[in-house]
Amino acid sequence: MLDKVVIANRGEIALRILRACKELGIRTVAVYSKADRDLMHVRLADEAVCIGPASSKESYLNIPAIISAAEVTDAQGIHPGYGFLAENADFAEAVERSGFTFIGPRADTIRLMGNKVSAIEAMKKAGVPTVPGSGGPVTEENAIEVAKKIGYPVIIKAAAGGGGRGMRVVHSEAALLNSLFVTRSEAGAAFGDSTVYMEKFLEHPRHVEIQVLADGEGHAVHLGDRDCSLQRRHQKVVEEAPAPHIPQKLREEVYAACVKACVDIGYRGAGTFEFLYEKERFYFIEMNTRVQVEHPVTEMVTGVDIVKEQLRIASGMGLSFKQSDVQIKGHAFEARINAEDPATFMPCPGRISHFHAPGGNGIRVDSHVYSGYSVPPNYDSLIGKVIAYGDDRNTAFRRMRNALNEIVVDGIRTNVPLHKEQIFRDTNFENGGVDIHYLETKLGLKK
Ligand code: ADP
Repeated sequence: MLDKVVIANRGEIALRILRACKELGIRTVAVYSKADRDLMHVRLADEAVCIGPASSKESYLNIPAIISAAEVTDAQGIHPGYGFLAENADFAEAVERSGFTFIGPRADTIRLMGNKVSAIEAMKKAGVPTVPGSGGPVTEENAIEVAKKIGYPVIIKAAAGGGGRGMRVVHSEAALLNSLFVTRSEAGAAFGDSTVYMEKFLEHPRHVEIQVLADGEGHAVHLGDRDCSLQRRHQKVVEEAPAPHIPQKLREEVYAACVKACVDIGYRGAGTFEFLYEKERFYFIEMNTRVQVEHPVTEMVTGVDIVKEQLRIASGMGLSFKQSDVQIKGHAFEARINAEDPATFMPCPGRISHFHAPGGNGIRVDSHVYSGYSVPPNYDSLIGKVIAYGDDRNTAFRRMRNALNEIVVDGIRTNVPLHKEQIFRDTNFENGGVDIHYLETKLGLKK
Protein backbone atom coordinates (compact mmCIF):
# COMPACT_ATOMS: atom_id res chain seq x y z
CA MET A 1 0.00 0.00 0.00
CA LEU A 2 1.13 3.56 -0.73
CA ASP A 3 2.46 5.01 2.50
CA LYS A 4 1.92 8.73 1.96
CA VAL A 5 -0.51 10.56 -0.33
CA VAL A 6 -0.91 14.20 -1.34
CA ILE A 7 -4.57 15.24 -1.53
CA ALA A 8 -4.59 17.68 -4.44
CA ASN A 9 -8.03 19.12 -3.78
CA ARG A 10 -10.11 20.98 -1.20
CA GLY A 11 -13.50 20.96 0.52
CA GLU A 12 -15.62 17.91 1.12
CA ILE A 13 -13.80 15.61 -1.29
CA ALA A 14 -10.42 16.37 0.30
CA LEU A 15 -11.86 15.34 3.67
CA ARG A 16 -13.44 12.26 2.09
CA ILE A 17 -10.08 11.18 0.68
CA LEU A 18 -8.31 11.90 3.97
CA ARG A 19 -10.75 9.66 5.83
CA ALA A 20 -10.13 6.78 3.40
CA CYS A 21 -6.35 7.22 3.71
CA LYS A 22 -6.54 7.17 7.51
CA GLU A 23 -8.56 3.97 7.49
CA LEU A 24 -5.91 2.35 5.32
CA GLY A 25 -3.01 3.64 7.43
CA ILE A 26 -1.79 5.93 4.66
CA ARG A 27 -0.21 9.19 5.83
CA THR A 28 -1.71 12.34 4.33
CA VAL A 29 -0.44 15.63 2.97
CA ALA A 30 -2.96 18.45 2.52
CA VAL A 31 -2.09 21.10 -0.02
CA TYR A 32 -4.06 24.32 0.35
CA SER A 33 -4.36 27.87 -0.90
CA LYS A 34 -4.04 30.93 1.32
CA ALA A 35 -7.85 31.19 1.40
CA ASP A 36 -8.13 27.63 2.73
CA ARG A 37 -5.99 27.57 5.89
CA ASP A 38 -9.08 26.75 7.97
CA LEU A 39 -10.25 23.74 5.98
CA MET A 40 -11.07 20.74 8.14
CA HIS A 41 -8.81 18.32 6.29
CA VAL A 42 -5.86 20.73 6.58
CA ARG A 43 -6.19 20.44 10.36
CA LEU A 44 -6.49 16.67 10.26
CA ALA A 45 -3.74 15.85 7.75
CA ASP A 46 -0.36 14.62 8.94
CA GLU A 47 1.30 17.43 7.02
CA ALA A 48 0.03 20.52 5.21
CA VAL A 49 1.71 22.61 2.54
CA CYS A 50 0.49 26.01 1.32
CA ILE A 51 0.75 25.95 -2.48
CA GLY A 52 -0.24 29.47 -3.42
CA PRO A 53 -2.73 32.32 -3.26
CA ALA A 54 -6.51 32.01 -3.30
CA SER A 55 -6.84 31.98 -7.08
CA SER A 56 -7.18 28.32 -8.18
CA LYS A 57 -5.01 29.02 -11.18
CA GLU A 58 -2.10 29.74 -8.87
CA SER A 59 -2.87 27.01 -6.31
CA TYR A 60 -5.11 24.00 -7.05
CA LEU A 61 -4.34 24.20 -10.77
CA ASN A 62 -0.65 24.89 -10.25
CA ILE A 63 1.00 21.65 -11.37
CA PRO A 64 4.63 22.47 -10.35
CA ALA A 65 3.49 23.63 -6.90
CA ILE A 66 1.58 20.40 -6.24
CA ILE A 67 4.44 18.21 -7.44
CA SER A 68 6.90 20.18 -5.29
CA ALA A 69 4.65 19.57 -2.29
CA ALA A 70 4.89 15.83 -2.99
CA GLU A 71 8.67 16.14 -3.29
CA VAL A 72 9.27 18.08 -0.07
CA THR A 73 7.02 15.79 1.96
CA ASP A 74 8.42 12.63 0.39
CA ALA A 75 4.95 11.41 -0.59
CA GLN A 76 4.38 8.52 -3.00
CA GLY A 77 1.02 9.20 -4.55
CA ILE A 78 -1.22 12.11 -5.55
CA HIS A 79 -5.02 11.91 -5.39
CA PRO A 80 -6.67 14.57 -7.59
CA GLY A 81 -10.26 14.24 -6.29
CA TYR A 82 -12.77 15.72 -8.78
CA GLY A 83 -12.66 19.03 -10.64
CA PHE A 84 -9.39 21.02 -10.75
CA LEU A 85 -6.72 18.72 -12.26
CA ALA A 86 -8.58 15.42 -11.95
CA GLU A 87 -9.11 15.01 -15.69
CA ASN A 88 -6.01 16.80 -16.87
CA ALA A 89 -3.86 14.30 -18.79
CA ASP A 90 -0.83 16.62 -18.67
CA PHE A 91 -1.04 16.63 -14.88
CA ALA A 92 -1.30 12.83 -14.69
CA GLU A 93 1.72 12.62 -16.98
CA ALA A 94 3.75 15.17 -14.99
CA VAL A 95 2.97 13.31 -11.75
CA GLU A 96 4.16 9.99 -13.15
CA ARG A 97 7.19 11.54 -14.86
CA SER A 98 8.26 13.02 -11.52
CA GLY A 99 8.20 9.53 -10.03
CA PHE A 100 4.89 9.67 -8.16
CA THR A 101 1.79 7.53 -8.49
CA PHE A 102 -1.23 9.26 -10.02
CA ILE A 103 -4.32 7.90 -8.29
CA GLY A 104 -6.42 7.59 -11.41
CA PRO A 105 -6.25 6.26 -14.96
CA ARG A 106 -3.18 6.42 -17.21
CA ALA A 107 -2.63 9.77 -18.93
CA ASP A 108 -3.40 8.30 -22.37
CA THR A 109 -6.77 7.01 -21.12
CA ILE A 110 -7.64 10.45 -19.72
CA ARG A 111 -6.69 11.96 -23.07
CA LEU A 112 -8.75 9.42 -25.03
CA MET A 113 -11.85 10.05 -22.89
CA GLY A 114 -11.25 13.81 -22.60
CA ASN A 115 -11.88 14.20 -26.29
CA LYS A 116 -15.52 13.31 -26.82
CA VAL A 117 -15.06 12.38 -30.46
CA SER A 118 -12.35 9.82 -29.65
CA ALA A 119 -14.27 8.67 -26.56
CA ILE A 120 -17.42 7.96 -28.56
CA GLU A 121 -15.38 6.16 -31.20
CA ALA A 122 -13.73 3.93 -28.57
CA MET A 123 -17.09 3.19 -26.94
CA LYS A 124 -18.73 2.29 -30.23
CA LYS A 125 -15.90 -0.11 -30.93
CA ALA A 126 -16.45 -1.75 -27.55
CA GLY A 127 -20.18 -2.14 -28.20
CA VAL A 128 -21.44 0.60 -25.87
CA PRO A 129 -24.64 2.20 -27.30
CA THR A 130 -24.07 5.83 -28.39
CA VAL A 131 -26.30 8.66 -29.60
CA PRO A 132 -26.88 8.58 -33.38
CA GLY A 133 -24.51 11.25 -34.63
CA SER A 134 -21.77 12.45 -36.91
CA GLY A 135 -19.28 9.87 -35.58
CA GLY A 136 -16.54 12.44 -36.12
CA PRO A 137 -15.85 16.16 -36.49
CA VAL A 138 -18.40 18.33 -38.26
CA THR A 139 -17.43 21.25 -40.49
CA GLU A 140 -19.13 23.76 -42.78
CA GLU A 141 -18.64 21.24 -45.60
CA ASN A 142 -20.47 18.23 -44.15
CA ALA A 143 -22.84 19.79 -41.55
CA ILE A 144 -25.98 20.03 -43.67
CA GLU A 145 -25.67 16.51 -44.97
CA VAL A 146 -24.89 15.03 -41.53
CA ALA A 147 -27.83 16.85 -39.89
CA LYS A 148 -30.19 15.63 -42.61
CA LYS A 149 -29.08 12.07 -42.00
CA ILE A 150 -29.47 12.34 -38.20
CA GLY A 151 -32.76 14.25 -38.39
CA TYR A 152 -33.61 17.49 -36.55
CA PRO A 153 -33.35 18.55 -33.80
CA VAL A 154 -29.61 18.04 -33.51
CA ILE A 155 -27.09 19.20 -30.93
CA ILE A 156 -23.66 20.56 -31.84
CA LYS A 157 -21.09 19.82 -29.15
CA ALA A 158 -17.46 20.77 -28.59
CA ALA A 159 -15.15 17.73 -28.71
CA ALA A 160 -13.11 19.21 -25.86
CA GLY A 161 -16.16 20.53 -23.98
CA GLY A 162 -17.06 20.01 -20.35
CA GLY A 163 -19.12 21.40 -17.51
CA GLY A 164 -22.19 21.71 -19.70
CA ARG A 165 -20.60 24.37 -21.90
CA GLY A 166 -19.97 24.41 -25.64
CA MET A 167 -23.28 22.94 -26.83
CA ARG A 168 -26.04 24.26 -29.05
CA VAL A 169 -29.35 22.73 -30.10
CA VAL A 170 -30.43 23.28 -33.70
CA HIS A 171 -34.02 22.78 -34.83
CA SER A 172 -33.80 23.48 -38.53
CA GLU A 173 -31.43 23.69 -41.45
CA ALA A 174 -31.92 27.47 -41.61
CA ALA A 175 -30.18 27.89 -38.24
CA LEU A 176 -27.53 25.21 -38.76
CA LEU A 177 -24.54 26.97 -40.26
CA ASN A 178 -24.78 29.97 -37.99
CA SER A 179 -25.00 27.75 -34.88
CA LEU A 180 -22.07 25.72 -36.12
CA PHE A 181 -20.00 28.86 -36.57
CA VAL A 182 -20.87 30.22 -33.09
CA THR A 183 -20.26 26.89 -31.31
CA ARG A 184 -16.94 26.44 -33.06
CA SER A 185 -15.67 29.86 -32.11
CA GLU A 186 -16.88 29.47 -28.52
CA ALA A 187 -15.20 26.07 -28.29
CA GLY A 188 -11.96 27.51 -29.65
CA ALA A 189 -12.00 30.34 -27.12
CA ALA A 190 -13.08 28.25 -24.12
CA PHE A 191 -11.23 24.97 -24.68
CA GLY A 192 -8.46 25.89 -27.16
CA ASP A 193 -9.93 23.40 -29.66
CA SER A 194 -12.67 24.36 -32.08
CA THR A 195 -13.50 20.78 -33.12
CA VAL A 196 -17.23 20.10 -32.83
CA TYR A 197 -19.40 17.08 -33.56
CA MET A 198 -23.12 16.50 -33.95
CA GLU A 199 -25.65 14.26 -32.23
CA LYS A 200 -29.36 13.65 -32.38
CA PHE A 201 -30.91 15.88 -29.72
CA LEU A 202 -32.96 13.70 -27.39
CA GLU A 203 -35.96 15.63 -26.18
CA HIS A 204 -36.89 14.02 -22.85
CA PRO A 205 -34.02 11.88 -21.65
CA ARG A 206 -33.03 10.96 -18.14
CA HIS A 207 -29.38 11.09 -17.04
CA VAL A 208 -28.35 7.60 -15.94
CA GLU A 209 -24.73 6.69 -15.26
CA ILE A 210 -22.79 3.52 -14.49
CA GLN A 211 -20.01 3.38 -11.89
CA VAL A 212 -17.03 1.16 -12.69
CA LEU A 213 -13.76 0.16 -11.04
CA ALA A 214 -10.89 -1.46 -12.92
CA ASP A 215 -7.41 -2.55 -11.93
CA GLY A 216 -5.61 -1.65 -15.18
CA GLU A 217 -4.66 -5.32 -15.59
CA GLY A 218 -7.75 -6.42 -17.44
CA HIS A 219 -10.16 -6.82 -14.52
CA ALA A 220 -13.16 -4.54 -14.29
CA VAL A 221 -16.41 -4.50 -12.30
CA HIS A 222 -19.50 -2.30 -12.28
CA LEU A 223 -21.24 -1.01 -9.19
CA GLY A 224 -24.62 -0.44 -10.77
CA ASP A 225 -26.23 2.79 -11.84
CA ARG A 226 -27.30 6.21 -10.60
CA ASP A 227 -29.98 8.58 -11.82
CA CYS A 228 -28.84 12.22 -11.88
CA SER A 229 -31.66 13.75 -13.87
CA LEU A 230 -32.47 16.53 -11.42
CA GLN A 231 -30.21 19.24 -12.83
CA ARG A 232 -30.05 22.98 -13.22
CA ARG A 233 -27.94 24.33 -16.06
CA HIS A 234 -26.49 20.84 -16.60
CA GLN A 235 -25.37 20.82 -12.95
CA LYS A 236 -26.62 17.91 -10.88
CA VAL A 237 -28.67 18.86 -7.81
CA VAL A 238 -29.93 15.47 -6.55
CA GLU A 239 -28.73 11.96 -7.37
CA GLU A 240 -30.00 8.52 -6.47
CA ALA A 241 -29.01 4.88 -6.74
CA PRO A 242 -30.26 2.72 -8.27
CA ALA A 243 -31.99 4.55 -11.14
CA PRO A 244 -35.74 3.89 -10.79
CA HIS A 245 -37.95 2.11 -13.34
CA ILE A 246 -35.35 0.54 -15.62
CA PRO A 247 -35.93 -3.02 -16.83
CA GLN A 248 -33.35 -5.34 -15.27
CA LYS A 249 -32.42 -6.86 -18.64
CA LEU A 250 -31.50 -3.44 -20.05
CA ARG A 251 -29.38 -2.67 -17.03
CA GLU A 252 -27.51 -5.93 -17.31
CA GLU A 253 -26.78 -5.29 -20.99
CA VAL A 254 -25.39 -1.83 -20.42
CA TYR A 255 -23.34 -2.95 -17.39
CA ALA A 256 -21.76 -5.70 -19.48
CA ALA A 257 -20.93 -3.23 -22.27
CA CYS A 258 -19.28 -0.81 -19.80
CA VAL A 259 -17.21 -3.55 -18.19
CA LYS A 260 -16.10 -4.78 -21.61
CA ALA A 261 -15.17 -1.23 -22.62
CA CYS A 262 -12.99 -0.90 -19.48
CA VAL A 263 -11.20 -4.11 -20.36
CA ASP A 264 -10.80 -3.06 -24.01
CA ILE A 265 -9.18 0.28 -23.18
CA GLY A 266 -7.15 -1.06 -20.24
CA TYR A 267 -8.98 1.22 -17.83
CA ARG A 268 -7.48 1.75 -14.38
CA GLY A 269 -9.23 3.21 -11.33
CA ALA A 270 -12.73 4.53 -10.72
CA GLY A 271 -14.77 5.83 -13.62
CA THR A 272 -18.27 6.69 -14.71
CA PHE A 273 -20.01 6.06 -18.01
CA GLU A 274 -22.63 8.76 -18.48
CA PHE A 275 -25.72 7.94 -20.53
CA LEU A 276 -28.89 9.60 -21.62
CA TYR A 277 -31.80 7.20 -21.19
CA GLU A 278 -34.95 7.61 -23.24
CA LYS A 279 -37.73 5.22 -24.24
CA GLU A 280 -35.92 2.22 -22.76
CA ARG A 281 -32.65 2.91 -24.55
CA PHE A 282 -29.25 3.95 -23.28
CA TYR A 283 -27.10 6.43 -25.21
CA PHE A 284 -23.49 6.99 -24.09
CA ILE A 285 -22.52 10.67 -23.90
CA GLU A 286 -19.21 10.74 -22.04
CA MET A 287 -16.94 9.07 -19.53
CA ASN A 288 -15.64 10.73 -16.37
CA THR A 289 -12.22 9.36 -15.48
CA ARG A 290 -12.33 10.18 -11.78
CA VAL A 291 -14.33 9.83 -8.58
CA GLN A 292 -17.58 11.78 -8.81
CA VAL A 293 -19.41 14.05 -6.38
CA GLU A 294 -22.30 11.57 -6.26
CA HIS A 295 -20.22 8.45 -5.53
CA PRO A 296 -21.69 8.06 -1.99
CA VAL A 297 -25.12 6.90 -3.23
CA THR A 298 -23.39 3.96 -4.90
CA GLU A 299 -21.36 3.27 -1.76
CA MET A 300 -24.56 3.15 0.27
CA VAL A 301 -26.27 0.57 -1.94
CA THR A 302 -23.21 -1.61 -2.56
CA GLY A 303 -21.21 -1.28 0.65
CA VAL A 304 -18.07 -0.67 -1.45
CA ASP A 305 -15.77 2.19 -0.43
CA ILE A 306 -14.88 3.63 -3.84
CA VAL A 307 -12.05 5.88 -2.61
CA LYS A 308 -10.39 3.02 -0.73
CA GLU A 309 -10.60 0.92 -3.89
CA GLN A 310 -8.95 3.76 -5.84
CA LEU A 311 -6.09 3.74 -3.34
CA ARG A 312 -5.76 -0.04 -3.50
CA ILE A 313 -5.70 -0.03 -7.29
CA ALA A 314 -3.07 2.73 -7.36
CA SER A 315 -1.01 0.70 -4.89
CA GLY A 316 -1.06 -2.24 -7.33
CA MET A 317 -3.15 -4.39 -4.99
CA GLY A 318 -6.10 -4.78 -7.33
CA LEU A 319 -9.74 -4.79 -6.30
CA SER A 320 -10.76 -6.15 -2.91
CA PHE A 321 -13.81 -7.97 -4.34
CA LYS A 322 -15.22 -9.67 -7.42
CA GLN A 323 -18.27 -8.81 -9.50
CA SER A 324 -20.16 -11.71 -7.97
CA ASP A 325 -19.65 -10.14 -4.51
CA VAL A 326 -21.50 -6.97 -5.56
CA GLN A 327 -25.12 -6.82 -4.54
CA ILE A 328 -27.27 -3.75 -4.92
CA LYS A 329 -29.27 -3.47 -1.73
CA GLY A 330 -31.76 -0.72 -0.84
CA HIS A 331 -31.87 2.80 -2.20
CA ALA A 332 -29.99 6.07 -1.59
CA PHE A 333 -30.48 9.75 -2.40
CA GLU A 334 -27.94 12.55 -2.28
CA ALA A 335 -28.84 16.23 -1.94
CA ARG A 336 -26.05 18.64 -2.83
CA ILE A 337 -25.95 21.52 -0.37
CA ASN A 338 -24.65 24.71 -1.98
CA ALA A 339 -23.85 28.09 -0.47
CA GLU A 340 -26.17 29.95 -2.81
CA ASP A 341 -29.27 32.07 -2.82
CA PRO A 342 -32.21 29.66 -3.14
CA ALA A 343 -34.11 32.09 -5.40
CA THR A 344 -31.40 33.46 -7.68
CA PHE A 345 -28.82 30.62 -7.40
CA MET A 346 -26.08 33.23 -6.96
CA PRO A 347 -23.17 32.01 -4.79
CA CYS A 348 -23.38 33.20 -1.17
CA PRO A 349 -19.99 32.85 0.47
CA GLY A 350 -19.50 34.02 4.06
CA ARG A 351 -19.18 32.89 7.64
CA ILE A 352 -21.30 30.00 8.88
CA SER A 353 -22.25 31.09 12.38
CA HIS A 354 -23.83 27.77 13.27
CA PHE A 355 -23.80 24.37 11.59
CA HIS A 356 -25.65 21.28 12.66
CA ALA A 357 -25.48 18.09 10.62
CA PRO A 358 -28.52 15.80 10.50
CA GLY A 359 -28.15 12.21 11.69
CA GLY A 360 -29.93 9.01 12.52
CA ASN A 361 -30.23 5.63 10.89
CA GLY A 362 -29.22 5.66 7.22
CA ILE A 363 -28.06 9.29 7.12
CA ARG A 364 -24.57 10.21 5.97
CA VAL A 365 -23.24 13.76 5.71
CA ASP A 366 -20.08 14.44 3.70
CA SER A 367 -19.10 18.00 4.51
CA HIS A 368 -16.04 19.96 5.50
CA VAL A 369 -17.89 22.83 7.15
CA TYR A 370 -18.33 23.55 10.85
CA SER A 371 -19.67 26.36 13.04
CA GLY A 372 -17.44 29.39 12.55
CA TYR A 373 -16.11 28.27 9.15
CA SER A 374 -16.02 30.89 6.42
CA VAL A 375 -16.90 29.77 2.88
CA PRO A 376 -14.40 31.56 0.64
CA PRO A 377 -15.70 33.23 -2.53
CA ASN A 378 -13.00 31.71 -4.74
CA TYR A 379 -14.27 28.20 -5.41
CA ASP A 380 -17.47 26.34 -6.27
CA SER A 381 -20.32 26.66 -3.82
CA LEU A 382 -20.73 23.01 -2.72
CA ILE A 383 -20.52 22.94 1.09
CA GLY A 384 -21.67 19.40 1.66
CA LYS A 385 -23.83 16.48 0.68
CA VAL A 386 -26.63 14.86 2.63
CA ILE A 387 -27.04 11.20 1.75
CA ALA A 388 -30.07 9.17 2.87
CA TYR A 389 -30.23 5.40 2.66
CA GLY A 390 -33.22 3.10 3.13
CA ASP A 391 -34.25 -0.49 2.46
CA ASP A 392 -36.43 0.89 -0.31
CA ARG A 393 -36.79 4.15 -2.25
CA ASN A 394 -39.70 5.34 -0.15
CA THR A 395 -37.86 4.95 3.14
CA ALA A 396 -34.78 6.72 1.75
CA PHE A 397 -36.98 9.55 0.45
CA ARG A 398 -38.62 10.08 3.85
CA ARG A 399 -35.32 9.91 5.67
CA MET A 400 -33.98 12.59 3.37
CA ARG A 401 -36.95 14.78 4.23
CA ASN A 402 -36.27 14.37 7.94
CA ALA A 403 -32.59 15.09 7.44
CA LEU A 404 -33.34 18.27 5.50
CA ASN A 405 -35.58 19.43 8.35
CA GLU A 406 -32.78 18.82 10.83
CA ILE A 407 -29.87 20.46 9.05
CA VAL A 408 -28.91 23.93 10.32
CA VAL A 409 -26.64 26.22 8.32
CA ASP A 410 -26.88 29.71 9.81
CA GLY A 411 -25.12 32.86 8.67
CA ILE A 412 -25.19 32.21 4.91
CA ARG A 413 -27.87 31.41 2.40
CA THR A 414 -28.04 27.86 1.05
CA ASN A 415 -30.20 25.79 -1.27
CA VAL A 416 -31.61 23.74 1.64
CA PRO A 417 -35.06 25.35 1.11
CA LEU A 418 -35.01 24.21 -2.53
CA HIS A 419 -34.45 20.61 -1.43
CA LYS A 420 -36.76 20.75 1.56
CA GLU A 421 -39.71 22.70 0.16
CA GLN A 422 -39.64 21.82 -3.50
CA ILE A 423 -37.67 18.75 -4.55
CA PHE A 424 -38.36 16.38 -1.68
CA ARG A 425 -42.03 17.49 -1.66
CA ASP A 426 -42.55 16.82 -5.35
CA THR A 427 -44.93 13.97 -6.17
CA ASN A 428 -43.58 13.28 -9.66
CA PHE A 429 -40.03 13.05 -8.35
CA GLU A 430 -41.27 10.93 -5.45
CA ASN A 431 -42.70 8.51 -8.03
CA GLY A 432 -39.35 8.42 -9.83
CA GLY A 433 -38.13 8.67 -13.39
CA VAL A 434 -38.41 12.39 -14.20
CA ASP A 435 -36.33 13.72 -17.13
CA ILE A 436 -33.40 16.16 -17.20
CA HIS A 437 -35.64 19.17 -17.87
CA TYR A 438 -37.97 18.47 -14.98
CA LEU A 439 -36.35 20.63 -12.30
CA GLU A 440 -35.89 23.70 -14.50
CA THR A 441 -39.43 23.39 -15.82
CA LYS A 442 -40.83 23.00 -12.32
CA LEU A 443 -38.95 26.05 -11.10
CA GLY A 444 -40.20 28.07 -14.04
CA LEU A 445 -36.72 28.45 -15.46
CA LYS A 446 -37.72 26.70 -18.66
CA LYS A 447 -40.98 26.45 -20.54
P1 ADP B 1 -20.41 18.05 -20.38
O1 ADP B 1 -19.13 17.32 -20.48
O2 ADP B 1 -20.27 19.50 -20.72
O3 ADP B 1 -21.13 17.80 -19.09
P2 ADP B 1 -22.21 16.15 -21.75
O4 ADP B 1 -21.90 15.55 -23.05
O5 ADP B 1 -22.09 15.29 -20.54
O6 ADP B 1 -21.33 17.50 -21.58
O7 ADP B 1 -23.66 16.75 -21.79
C1 ADP B 1 -24.15 17.54 -20.71
C2 ADP B 1 -25.66 17.62 -20.74
O8 ADP B 1 -26.12 18.16 -21.98
C3 ADP B 1 -26.35 16.28 -20.63
O9 ADP B 1 -26.48 15.84 -19.30
C4 ADP B 1 -27.69 16.60 -21.28
O10 ADP B 1 -28.48 17.34 -20.34
C5 ADP B 1 -27.34 17.53 -22.40
N1 ADP B 1 -27.09 16.78 -23.64
C6 ADP B 1 -25.89 16.39 -24.15
N2 ADP B 1 -26.04 15.68 -25.30
C7 ADP B 1 -27.37 15.63 -25.54
C8 ADP B 1 -28.18 15.04 -26.58
N3 ADP B 1 -27.66 14.37 -27.60
N4 ADP B 1 -29.53 15.18 -26.48
C9 ADP B 1 -30.09 15.86 -25.44
N5 ADP B 1 -29.40 16.43 -24.45
C10 ADP B 1 -28.05 16.33 -24.49
